[in-house]
Amino acid sequence: MREHKGASITELSDETGVTIRQITKFVREGRISMMDAPNLSYPCESCGVLISHNHLCDSCRTRLTNASKNLFHESNIAENKKLTDEQVQSAYKGISQYKDRT
Ligand SMILES: [Zn+2]
Repeated sequence: MREHKGASITELSDETGVTIRQITKFVREGRISMMDAPNLSYPCESCGVLISHNHLCDSCRTRLTNASKNLFHESNIAENKKLTDEQVQSAYKGISQYKDRT
């Protein structure tokens, strides 16, 4: 077997006949160690840019972090508003309906 150190995922795919999708899956599942192929890169889950760690590239992670910050901020605003009893009741009703279904 050839050395795959430094191989890109496309090269690795060409050489092994394993699809990029499968290799990506193996990397994420830890079945291919980054020790074996420290420079192996695979596509970002969001935009497809080649990355070698995490599931997302830096820009997608930044975007997601900002998005979740905004979400958190918005939910804080919602919490600051006083919920009426009716709203609380319907929320609980929704939750119990969901529980019944599962
Ligand atoms: Zn990305």
